[in-house]
Amino acid sequence: PCTDFDMAYFNSYSHLGIHQEMIKDRVRTETYRDAIMRHQSFIAGKVVLDVGCGTGILSIFCAQAGAKRVYAVDASDIALKAHDIVEANNLSDVVVVLHGRVEDVEIDEEVDVIISEWMGYMLLYESMLGSVITARDRWLKPGGLILPSNASLYMAPVTHTDRYSEYIDFWRNVYGINMSPMISLAKQSASEEPSVETITGENILTWPHEVKYIDSYSITIHELETVTSSFKFNSMMRAPLHGFAFWFDVEFNGPAIKPNDSHSTSSTDNHLANGSQRRKRTNPNDALVLSTAPENPPTHWQQTLIYFYEPIALEQDQPIEGSVTLSQNKENARFININLEYSVGGRSYVKQSVMK
Ligand code: SAH
Repeated sequence: PCTDFDMAYFNSYSHLGIHQEMIKDRVRTETYRDAIMRHQSFIAGKVVLDVGCGTGILSIFCAQAGAKRVYAVDASDIALKAHDIVEANNLSDVVVVLHGRVEDVEIDEEVDVIISEWMGYMLLYESMLGSVITARDRWLKPGGLILPSNASLYMAPVTHTDRYSEYIDFWRNVYGINMSPMISLAKQSASEEPSVETITGENILTWPHEVKYIDSYSITIHELETVTSSFKFNSMMRAPLHGFAFWFDVEFNGPAIKPNDSHSTSSTDNHLANGSQRRKRTNPNDALVLSTAPENPPTHWQQTLIYFYEPIALEQDQPIEGSVTLSQNKENARFININLEYSVGGRSYVKQSVMK
C-alpha cells in the first residue's frame, strides 16, 4: 500500500534540486553510463526496465546503447518531465515512461535487464532496494542482467579533531565571551543524528569493516529488514576516536562481460542459483565500481558519520570491538534505526540513532 510516507517520499523527487544534484554528480552518472556502455552487447536489441527513472537519464543511455525497448518507471511527478525529455530526444518509440510505483504498474512482458539507481545515504536509507527486488521477481528473465550487480556497506572508526573543535570548542571563546555552558548542547546536537558530510582517508583510523554485502540477484526484502554485523578494529594510530563513518560501493558486473572476455567469470558464476554467494571474478580488475569511500573522489552521497557525545582516547593498536544493527524504522520504513554497541579499553558503550 502507498502510505503517506511514500507520498512524501515521491513528492521529494518531484523537485528540480534533487535531480540536478544527482545528475551533476559525475562520479555517479558517468559510472552508470560506463556500466551501460560496457554491457552494450547485452543491452542492444533487448528489453530494459529502469526502476525509478527520475528524469529518464539512465533509460536514455540504455536507448543509446541500442535497447529495443526501455520501460522507465517513476512514481514521482518527475515522470512527466521524463516523458517530455524522451520526446525531445525522439526516443518515444523506444522508451516507454510509466508514471506509477513499480509495485503497481503493469508491464506485459519479461525484461532482459533491470537498471536502477536505488542507493541512499549509508546505502540503505530510503529502502528503495526493496522496489528493485519486487521488479526483479516480477519481470526479470532467468539469466537476465541487473545493474548494479552487487553492493557493499562499510564502516570504520573516525578521528576528526577539526570538526570537533569547530563544533564544540567554538563555544569556549565567542567574541571573547566564555560560552562553555553551551558545550553540552553542542555535543548533544552533534551526536544526536547521523550526519552526512565529506571526510578524507586521513580521518579513518584503520581498514574498514564490511557491514553488509548485497547480491542484487539473490537479496530478499526480508534480509534487508534488519542487518547486524560484528566488528573488530585495531586503531593504527594514537588518536581521539570521535565516532564511526559509513559508506558504500556498488559494482557493475554481469553476464555481458563474459562472452568476449576470457578473464571474466566462468559461466556457472553468473547464475541465480548462486544464491547469496559472492560472484567470483578471476580478475578483479574487471569490476566497474562506483565508490563513495573517503579516499575516493567525493559524490553527493558523501559519507555518513555517527559522532559520540565524548571522544574516546585511543592508543595505537587498541582494539575497538562491537556490533552494529541497522533496521527499518517501525513508523517510517524509509528511515533507519542504527544501533551501535562497542567496547574500548574495558568500557562498553551503546549508541542509538535514527537516520531520517
Ligand atoms: N534514475 C534517475 C533517478 C534516481 S533517484 C537518475 O539516475 O538520475 C530514484 C528515483 O526512484 C526517484 O525519482 C524516485 O521517485 C523513484 N522511485 C523510488 N521508489 C520507486 C518505486 N517504488 N516506484 C517507482 N519509482 C520509484
